[in-house]
Amino acid sequence: MSVDPGKLVREEILAMKAYPVAPATGMVKLDAMENPYRLPEGLREDVARMVAGLEVNRYPDPAAPALKATLRRVFAIPQSAGLLIGNGSDEIIALAAQTLARPGAVMLAPEPSFVMYRMNAVFHRMHYVGVPLEADFALHLGRMLDAIAEHRPALVFLAYPNNPTGNLFPAEAVEAVIRATPGLVVVDEAYHAFAGRTFMDRLGEFDNLMVMRTVSKLGLAGIRLGYAAAAPAWTGEIDKVRPPYNVSVLTQAVAERVLEHVDALEAQAAAIREARTGLYDRLADLPRVTAFPSEANFILVRVPDADRVHAHMKSRRVLVRNFNGAHALLAGCLRLTVGTPGENELMMAALGEAL
Ligand code: PMP
Repeated sequence: MSVDPGKLVREEILAMKAYPVAPATGMVKLDAMENPYRLPEGLREDVARMVAGLEVNRYPDPAAPALKATLRRVFAIPQSAGLLIGNGSDEIIALAAQTLARPGAVMLAPEPSFVMYRMNAVFHRMHYVGVPLEADFALHLGRMLDAIAEHRPALVFLAYPNNPTGNLFPAEAVEAVIRATPGLVVVDEAYHAFAGRTFMDRLGEFDNLMVMRTVSKLGLAGIRLGYAAAAPAWTGEIDKVRPPYNVSVLTQAVAERVLEHVDALEAQAAAIREARTGLYDRLADLPRVTAFPSEANFILVRVPDADRVHAHMKSRRVLVRNFNGAHALLAGCLRLTVGTPGENELMMAALGEAL
């Protein structure tokens, strides 16, 4: 007897492509907004000794009180807010969608934005509404408010700054979206370390705001830890959907230890911000290239013949992300993660050559 997955798997999953992750061995890896710097040597040894003592034969504590206390202190999360942790903020996106996916419920987000929002709407059978940004990726507030009034979304995602465009929507526009939305608005601050703007200190002003962040872009992408703060009435419900052991013993302990030294990570973020400024100026000077201003650790550029430029850069072992074809507004666009100064030189050389 043969069983055909094509006859059993949900049609919308069959029609989908998996989230693309390009093989990167031996490449200058500038495709995923990782922090290019490793942890300081002494801290790595300290972490290694600490890991040796962990009881990995035991399940993690689902409540993670020590880690949560560290997160609250280090990232200034208000004591009155509920706090949720996820296996990356990717998991928190999924949990929020799962929790709010009543039949017919709508998820709404500007487009182009982080593709996992839309993917999770599909996974959890929410109706997805994408609201186009302007050609320069500015938020079209009128269009957003009209779409919110029409579709009454249960869940809105706003990446602040936005990925893959890098811009930070005006705080007043974000505020207007939160006030107009009859559901939960997730302000996704994945790139907070590079933007320095936040809604974390404004949680008390809104009863339908969740501020979500990740430690991934700060230098800990490998341990998979995201967190989200909102009124306890929201986090309490979403926490019921969370798998109890979603954040491992290793992740909890390593995050706790490393975040005691968050200043080291913040210094790396500052170096990345500075490199971003220099890189932006050089990209903007290139003939036939449009560089879009960024408040994140990457820069979106529009180039002639993006597929060929991307392929050529890859042949020079420089991996960046090609968004040509991903969305009408992203025609010809490549997203360049800011790397170390050396990596940025290799990237610029490969790009210049390809052009
Ligand atoms: N939100 C945004 C806007 C992102 O760009 C990313 C990563 N690309 C994530 C969330 C997910 O990050 P992680 O799962 O690593 O926490």
